[in-house]
Amino acid sequence: MNKKKKFETRAIHDGNKSDRETGAISPTITLTSTFEQISVGHHKGFDYSRAANPTRERYEENIASLESGKFGISFSSGMAATTALFQSLHNGDHVIIGRNVYGGTYRMAVEILNNHGFEFDFIDVREIDLVKQSIKSNTKWVFVETPTNPLLELCDIESISELCKEHNLKLAVDNTFMSPYGQSPLSLGADIVMHSTTKFIGGHSDVIGGALITNDESLADQLYFIQKSGGAIPSPFDCWMLLRSTKTLGLRVQKQSDNALELANRLKSHEKIESIIYPGLNSHPQFDLASKQQLNPDNESIYGSMISLKLGSRSKRDSFLKKLELFKLAESLGGVESLVCVPFDMTHGSVPTEMKIAMGLTEDLVRLSVGIEHIDDLYFDLDQSL
Ligand code: PLP
Repeated sequence: MNKKKKFETRAIHDGNKSDRETGAISPTITLTSTFEQISVGHHKGFDYSRAANPTRERYEENIASLESGKFGISFSSGMAATTALFQSLHNGDHVIIGRNVYGGTYRMAVEILNNHGFEFDFIDVREIDLVKQSIKSNTKWVFVETPTNPLLELCDIESISELCKEHNLKLAVDNTFMSPYGQSPLSLGADIVMHSTTKFIGGHSDVIGGALITNDESLADQLYFIQKSGGAIPSPFDCWMLLRSTKTLGLRVQKQSDNALELANRLKSHEKIESIIYPGLNSHPQFDLASKQQLNPDNESIYGSMISLKLGSRSKRDSFLKKLELFKLAESLGGVESLVCVPFDMTHGSVPTEMKIAMGLTEDLVRLSVGIEHIDDLYFDLDQSL
């Protein structure tokens, strides 16, 4: 059977071979730090689990397949994955980076990597001309997130990738918010995809992890080397948890997105909401781009499970948060359970206030991560709290 299998089939079968000895359908976890060698320097493919581990290899095969990439490199967190990507740069290299990427990415760039001789320019990557104007002779990468957290601004991956190719730059896309089910940056021309697997890929709010996926063999070799040398690897148990989670990725993400679209439509004219941001509403300025770029494996538009609401004031926000029962106040997103957070003080706490205000990230903004609970219960919880 040579035909390329569909996403849902690959999610279950790629990397999930039954155990050769026992036939166990659920892959065994290889919980070992080291491996017996046949003779000095002669082993069965594994010598030490920081360098390679069978469960990790299976998980990396699975995640690469889901992003339609050849190489998957896994890490102990999303931040470890982003840091590893930047560690492939050299002193004096310049990176153009989206202005409202995840706050932790901003913190890593500005407070740590800047001190090691890397240069970062944070710009509004919705504007392709601005990206073009920001290219310098030492620019090596463009790093974007789409849609962004929590303003849900999109950038056009295909146009930015064409620009990068013209200028011999590499394009990295943080695809955490859409997951491999809802957006496929490599097929739109990106060189590498990054995920906080803590989010949709894990999907149950019980694992911290990160991954990079690419088709570029020399970049992959560099990143495997950084993975092994830096040692920010996921444990075999976490890899097994993630392998189990990706089997239901499509079902979860589709349901979460369907719930979010329905909620956004029910909430859009709610009198207690000052404004609502959701890429699936045609009031969103980039609705057309979202409909074209964010596609599920059946090529249907999918808008994600994140909704941001502006409530008018800090006191209205706090009274809303106090009344919620199902939406739990917590950082993170993408799990089967619905969460709410205040990005101004939580996920973006480390971003300077002037920068947040300039982007439109105000303190009355709450971000919802919609889970797979029943839509009527979710709407009731939001409506009675508003
Ligand atoms: N990228 C995005 C879009 C995120 O939302 C996060 C975490 O919230 C990260 C990266 C960092 O991932 P982690 O928390 O797994 O280190």
